[in-house]
Amino acid sequence: MNDIFKLADDLGPLKVIHVHEPGIGLKGALVVDNVARGPSVGGVRMAADVSTEECARLARAMTFKNAAADLQHGGGKAVLWGDPKMPKQQKETLIRGFCCALREVEQYIFAPDMGTDEECMGWVKDEIGRVVGLPRELGGIPLDEIGATGFGLSHAVDVAQDFCDLKIEGARIVVQGFGAVGKHATKFLCEAGAIPVAISDSTGTIHNPDGLDVDALIASKSAGKSVTEYVPGEKLDGDAIIDIECDIWIPAARPDVIHEGNVNRLNTKLIVQGANIPITYAAEKALHQKGILNIPDFIANAGGVICAATEYQGAGEVAAFTAIEEKLRRNTREVLQTALQDQILPRDAALAMARRRVEQAMSYRRWHIF
Ligand code: NAD
Repeated sequence: MNDIFKLADDLGPLKVIHVHEPGIGLKGALVVDNVARGPSVGGVRMAADVSTEECARLARAMTFKNAAADLQHGGGKAVLWGDPKMPKQQKETLIRGFCCALREVEQYIFAPDMGTDEECMGWVKDEIGRVVGLPRELGGIPLDEIGATGFGLSHAVDVAQDFCDLKIEGARIVVQGFGAVGKHATKFLCEAGAIPVAISDSTGTIHNPDGLDVDALIASKSAGKSVTEYVPGEKLDGDAIIDIECDIWIPAARPDVIHEGNVNRLNTKLIVQGANIPITYAAEKALHQKGILNIPDFIANAGGVICAATEYQGAGEVAAFTAIEEKLRRNTREVLQTALQDQILPRDAALAMARRRVEQAMSYRRWHIF
């Protein structure tokens, strides 16, 4: 508990709630960080090694992410202790028990995260109704299927053209990770005239300087094949994706893939972060010094969370795409303009923008954070 008190600052957390029901082996925690902009949204993470402190840090990240995305939502997060691969009936009992215990905490809206999925959110809907990330049959918008985050990424790139020596038409793109984010980002950018020259997945890299056929790659990936089975192209190991010269480099796989030890290998004009924290802060500084424009994760990959907020309002896919386009363009421009004007890292500009938005919302409140 002391750790939580050490983490407390002028923004939050507002509430830290522990839930324990020995009868069903339920142990969990909810942290509502800040709700000045509206009820908090953040996923329920299920894992065997979760902690309240981790939950508080993730809740703060959601406060900033939601404010940076310009959503009328604060930040929160919940953690549930246990192996997410436990028998389904046991998992259902825990999820149902957890959300029932938090029924009265209207400042928190449930959402999926690592270890929980749409089906789990369906159980939450059945019990308490306050949830996003639902299956389509229950009014959910399947954000990975429609490519919400990749669509947002393509708009961030479009705006970035005004801030670096780059035109999407004919730009060579390199994409690390070809899952929900990587596939759709590639597809939307190809529709705008970009040419994918290298793509990797967990098995390796495929490279062809004349361009790769994105539709063929998506079809082959859907058939369960690796991107390296694509022809014609040179098959390379996964790490080689960092060295390939391009105009736009998109990390869309794992955290911390670019660090001080490899950042100087990148040969690109623009980086758009699809994955969460794919580049360390020290590496971002190095990129800034080299004049490589870098759009941080919580600005560039906000399409998913904007889609979830749209679902919560009861609107559909068309409204989600409209909101993603409008918000991604405005937020990317504001961040890049500030970074340029103040000669600071885009990440620092984005964090300052998010904090300012939260503090402005707090200034209208009688009590500061709720
Ligand atoms: P996904 O599981 O659909 O796809 C991940 C892809 O990365 C797969 O193709 C996998 O083969 C590949 N991969 C794994 N390890 C790799 C490695 N070492 N090198 C190259 N490729 C590797 O996941 P996703 O939903 O596309 O998410 C990707 C990243 O984006 C994650 O960091 C996620 O947290 C983040 N993100 C996703 C969304 C979303 O809407 N899905 C939104 C915001 C952020």
